Amino acid sequence: MNTPIRLYRDRLLHEQAQLLERIAFERGGVISQAAMAAKKDVNDFDTHAQVITERDIEFAMSAHEAAELNELDNALQRWDAGRYGFCTDCAAAIPVARLDAYPAALRCVTCQEAFETAH
Ligand SMILES: [Zn+2]
Repeated sequence: MNTPIRLYRDRLLHEQAQLLERIAFERGGVISQAAMAAKKDVNDFDTHAQVITERDIEFAMSAHEAAELNELDNALQRWDAGRYGFCTDCAAAIPVARLDAYPAALRCVTCQEAFETAH
């Protein structure tokens, strides 16, 4: 069964939204959750929630979360450029099984292993 590749874009967006929510939640619970919601409908929340900006959320991110978010951003940009699903290093098509497990994958398994060994 082949998954239509456009579904990966939905998954990337979904994971990005979940990650942002998690970061906001870890940062300050109720207020940050309100801040996330305020991005969707500012008028429903008080000024306290409105002053929480994306910069605050970025500030609160751990390095790991920042890297994860960066990977998702990167994958989405590659999607927009029509290069999603192809290895950034050798340009081979990344196997669907790998994308299923890890939609933000930028490299095929071989290149990823080489990358991790080198860094
Ligand atoms: Zn590769």
